[in-house]
Amino acid sequence: MSLTIKKAKRINDLPPYLFAEIDRRKREALGRGVDLIDLGIGDPDIPTPATVVEKLLEGASRPVNHRYPSSSGMPEFRQAVTDWYKTRFGVSLDPGKEVCSLIGSKEGIGNMAVAFVDPGDVVLVSSPCYPVYHIGTAFNGGTNYFLPLKKENKFLPDLDAIPAEVAKRAKLLWINYPNNPTAAVADKDFYQRVVAFANKYNVIVCHDAAYTEMGYDGYRPMSFLEVDGAREVGIEFHSLSKTFNMTGWRIGMAVGNPEIVGGLAQAKSNLDSGIFQAVQEAGIEALRLGDQIVEPSRKIYQERRDILVDGLRAVGLECEKPKATFYVWVSCPKGLSSADFATKLLDEAGVVTTPGNGFGDAGEGYVRFTVCVDKERLREVAERIRRVKL
Ligand SMILES: *Cc1c(COP(=O)(O)O)cnc(C)c1O
Repeated sequence: MSLTIKKAKRINDLPPYLFAEIDRRKREALGRGVDLIDLGIGDPDIPTPATVVEKLLEGASRPVNHRYPSSSGMPEFRQAVTDWYKTRFGVSLDPGKEVCSLIGSKEGIGNMAVAFVDPGDVVLVSSPCYPVYHIGTAFNGGTNYFLPLKKENKFLPDLDAIPAEVAKRAKLLWINYPNNPTAAVADKDFYQRVVAFANKYNVIVCHDAAYTEMGYDGYRPMSFLEVDGAREVGIEFHSLSKTFNMTGWRIGMAVGNPEIVGGLAQAKSNLDSGIFQAVQEAGIEALRLGDQIVEPSRKIYQERRDILVDGLRAVGLECEKPKATFYVWVSCPKGLSSADFATKLLDEAGVVTTPGNGFGDAGEGYVRFTVCVDKERLREVAERIRRVKL
């Protein structure tokens, strides 16, 4: 006798994994001993600042931290988030009601749909985008409506193009600036239009602000909550992952409207038991030091960005120099699809990138490069691509 094992419909209904082919070719090349330069991953290669690591070591040995934490975060962590928002953005928050810790922002983003989406609800999601927004909808029986991000609109969604009957059924609107994967940025004018749209159609705005600290040439991306009326309609997701090179630690936060943050916290309290307190103590230290520990990596990423972009342009490829994020969104040469171009780069140059359509149909025609390798390796990228016949 053996069990008949059948996965849930939500799993079987997952869209095909578009990176599977690239992954297979990457493993094959590694197997052949090819010296790959991997610009596919969006994961900092720079270590977490040593002072932050110290705090974890101290905190790990204190028995009080060995017990269950609270799901929505230690009061001291929520206070540190509040202080950071005040210093960085001039935004005042109530740490008791308007801040919730997250086990990485991915967790909170996924649980937004648990908290707010019923079957039949529409969720407005950009294409291309960070996939968790629409997976959350799908796992909870909602319907995604995709908003294409187009170059002619500076990769901002065109809210006026959303049919009224769709907007009326919409529960959530996901936005993410500075943006993964396009590296586009948003200004106050865009956020004001988002607030007006949210009020008109009674839609909760979810802003994923994972990259606000990775701005270059003096550019400081703003928080959605800086805009008048944002707090009445929105929640903002932030993460220590990219800001402080802490992707492995799993710590982030959601802030904003108390009812929305409270709804997410309620869903979470039924599913998880929060973040190891020693990690929260380390997070407090990171937030307290803020720019002091962000600036060194910002400098490194900016220098790498310049090397990569200048190199790609020198070999005839077309891309903007990003004002923020560690991504470069590169147009495919004429006649090549995203998959063709990414495959060619991998097979003929040993350079791993991510095909843009993997982030959504509207990402077709682009590939995403990251700058998560050191500058010597990045210099080599253009040299290798120069030898490829495009
Ligand atoms: C990396 C990333 C996240 C996830 O961050 P974690 O806090 O590590 O879960 C969220 N949103 C975007 C757009 C990202 O690129």
